[in-house]
Amino acid sequence: MTLAPLEGLLPSLRELYIDLHRNPELSFAEHRTAAELARRLGDAGYEVHTGIGGTGVVGVLRNGTGPVVLLRADIDALPLQEKTGLEYASRARGTDVDGKDVPVMHACGHDMHATWLSGAADLLARARESWQGTLLVVFQPGEERGSGAEAMLRDGLFDIAGTPSVVLGQHIVPGPAGWVLIRPGVIMAATDSLRIVLHGRGGHGSRPETTVDPAVMAASVVMRLQTIVSREISATESAVVTVGQLHVGTASNIIADEAVLEVNVRSFDEQVRAKVLAAIDRIVRGEAAAAGAPKPPEITSIASFPVTTNDDATTETLTALFRKVRGPERVIEAPLVTGSEDFSEFGRAAGVPSVFWLVGGLDQDQVLTAIAGGRFDEDVPSNHSPLFAPVLEPTLGAGVETLVMAALEFLAAP
Ligand SMILES: [Zn+2]
Ligand SMILES: [Zn+2]
Repeated sequence: MTLAPLEGLLPSLRELYIDLHRNPELSFAEHRTAAELARRLGDAGYEVHTGIGGTGVVGVLRNGTGPVVLLRADIDALPLQEKTGLEYASRARGTDVDGKDVPVMHACGHDMHATWLSGAADLLARARESWQGTLLVVFQPGEERGSGAEAMLRDGLFDIAGTPSVVLGQHIVPGPAGWVLIRPGVIMAATDSLRIVLHGRGGHGSRPETTVDPAVMAASVVMRLQTIVSREISATESAVVTVGQLHVGTASNIIADEAVLEVNVRSFDEQVRAKVLAAIDRIVRGEAAAAGAPKPPEITSIASFPVTTNDDATTETLTALFRKVRGPERVIEAPLVTGSEDFSEFGRAAGVPSVFWLVGGLDQDQVLTAIAGGRFDEDVPSNHSPLFAPVLEPTLGAGVETLVMAALEFLAAP
């Protein structure tokens, strides 16, 4: 097929992007966003399913026998005050998980992801004589909380249009606009956030013999957790274990009855991840038992993102395709990203290959000048920065093009 109709579609996509950017919505509150994306899918001739996994939207286009290709974009924004100074900057507010009124911004660029996928869905529908199979267009809510993909799967995503044969997705990054960054194997880290409650027995600060002091228990836990990476993980592997929160007690003369810790774990390998999580569980239970805790500790997962792993063969196919479509100088190997994504839940649940690539969205001169001067980290705002401000051209068209061409690569010829 030809991408000629893309040019005519761009004004409408620009309008959609600016509208979504001005009206960002927090995870699982993407009602307005979902309604607009669903309307556009309906107009393009898709069978539309809304409310999947809360606020998720799914479009299905059945076009004869052939592979089922799943294209995914996330649609949620972040609790952050935008400071880009853009004419279309967000002034929106929302209610966060704790019920607090907060500013909201599309600081991760999910507004661009939604716009790319909406454009790609439209173009592929217009060109349905040039492919065969089923397109499964997935607008996923709640990515920032790490639970949107899982919510959609639990809600029967694959019952709607069958199990996909391949799962594809892309993320905007602070690279030169329209460049593609891709790599086989692991591309993004796994994250696990845990909440740990250690139970002691409270009492008077002057009579420790009547208590089981959770402050001492927590201190032992924090120190012992440091030995996981240093003593249990091989020098050739890597992981991070950070105790980001530790709360015990209210006054110096009171021994508290519990301590609460929040721990963040990063890893790039499922086996390492499992080992670290098992070690945390063992150490926390062990320290509680050693202290004589009156009841066992509670360890709960607050958020969890799997490792994002790209299928080798599928990535090779796509890298060659993107070099052809975008030009070889604009397709480079992606670095290993310490951020996390729940994208790979879809491929894992279906048991099929998935590939996640990155598309640059910032002014090329700005990025290349910063890299040349060794000032990339200082001068170029990244995702989640209040200054993250993608340029619309050529970012918009480039991301639509990569999605359309990637989908066509795996759909059947008519
Ligand atoms: Zn993000
Ligand atoms: Zn993101």
